[in-house]
Amino acid sequence: MAVQDWQMVIGIETHVQLATRAKMFSSAPAAWCEQPNLQANELDFGMPGTLPVANQAAVDMAVRFGLAVDARIATVSEFARKHYFYPDLPKGYQISQFEHPIINGGLITVADDDDQFAVRLVRAHLEEDAGKLTHDMRPGKSLADYNRAGLPLLEIVSEPDLRSARQAAAYGRTLHKLVRWLQICDGNMQEGSLRFDVNVSLRHNESDPLGTRCEIKNLNSFRFVEQAIENEAARQAQLLEAGESIIQQTRLFDTTSGQTRAMRSKEDAQDYRYFPDPDLLPLRIDEQTIEKIRRGMPELPDACRQRYIDQYGLSPYDAGVLSAERGLATYFDEVARQCPDAKLAANWVAGDLLALCNSAGTTPAKAPVTAAMLAGLLSRIADQTVSGKMGKEILAKMWQSQKPADEIIEGEGLSQISDAGQLQEVLATIIEKNPKQVQQYQAGKHKLLGFFVGQAMKETGGQANPQQLNELAKRMLDEQK
Ligand code: ADP
Ligand code: MG
Repeated sequence: MAVQDWQMVIGIETHVQLATRAKMFSSAPAAWCEQPNLQANELDFGMPGTLPVANQAAVDMAVRFGLAVDARIATVSEFARKHYFYPDLPKGYQISQFEHPIINGGLITVADDDDQFAVRLVRAHLEEDAGKLTHDMRPGKSLADYNRAGLPLLEIVSEPDLRSARQAAAYGRTLHKLVRWLQICDGNMQEGSLRFDVNVSLRHNESDPLGTRCEIKNLNSFRFVEQAIENEAARQAQLLEAGESIIQQTRLFDTTSGQTRAMRSKEDAQDYRYFPDPDLLPLRIDEQTIEKIRRGMPELPDACRQRYIDQYGLSPYDAGVLSAERGLATYFDEVARQCPDAKLAANWVAGDLLALCNSAGTTPAKAPVTAAMLAGLLSRIADQTVSGKMGKEILAKMWQSQKPADEIIEGEGLSQISDAGQLQEVLATIIEKNPKQVQQYQAGKHKLLGFFVGQAMKETGGQANPQQLNELAKRMLDEQK
């Protein structure tokens, strides 16, 4: 037997750092800061006598998430103290939610190439982050940075519904996209804005009871999620096949070796001595507030993608590309609204515009060519004032100068020649000058049409309407017979 004879069962706890200005319970700034301990106040250092106040912005973001995944929003939830001793936690307890979380249930639909599946959520709760310890900077010493201490986290807990490493990574990507779309998290994985704890167990069949799980902590990339699960499943399969049993454990993933190693035996909830935090009142959210947040919700990514297929007739692939990020989707929607041809808009936004953004290291929302400006250029392509090829050059000039397309077209005399008389004149001269090619064409070598069109293009400095030129050249050559 080998690992493929087992079914993987995976459940994921995702820590999402909420994009608030202040921390979860203290007024210290939540922005990323390179310098240690500059963004921590007496509360984050755990000084006695300080009192926490729940950040309303973080609460609203949790509700946004709950509404997006169709979860139940608790009108009364409760903060609890989770006790453990470690130098990253000077208070000796983390404020979290335990018995009464703010978000209950919910569903995430994951579309991964040809695979589509749903993952049920158990809950999502608010908590504060711990500080950050560094053990390898000074020999024999550990350094503590409390900038991260107290940052607001939304911990999203899935049911054990995932069945492969690939599904787990696809689930992670879907969550990443969703929290960015909802503008509740910056999604910066390098800075740890999204961290995954992955629980893995094995069994033979879907109908078997769940096996004993191990939890791999703190994975901050989709690739690590996949690798850690593959390796952990292989380790468990080997043990089970040798007749041994799995010990429930918390494990660490070593990014260099790709292996997982034991960190500690799994603690139970009772080890943490959870109890309601007496410094914080129960968290109440009234229906009106929930309704207000609901009214402010954006269209969700899946709905957006489907609308691109239905409304604009885009292929599922193009619809997926253009709805990959909210900023891009907003940009595309604006272009498509102002441009006579939505498919043309889709091609240009997904193609040239994104390429320019990528090479300039910017996003559509910040691009020097706004959606309205691109729509202006596309209108000139659609009405054949300029060809698509000229459009590319004009777009590059717009990017540089931030001038509208019409100004560049006019200023540089770039508009396409669609005057049949003028084009015929050009073609007539070329036909006259190249009798040999005319003869060969008429003898059946039809690909020489390209030669005449090319010459005429050259003659007009690339400004001839290519489609019209093609038709004219063909007609004139056939008439020569
Ligand atoms: P804890 O905080 O103790 O880790 P939970 O009971 O909330 O506890 O479970 C954490 C995660 O583990 C959830 O995402 C859940 O889906 C997952 N999980 C629970 N049992 C299993 C199992 N047997 N195999 C894989 N994942 C599991
Ligand atoms: Mg856990």
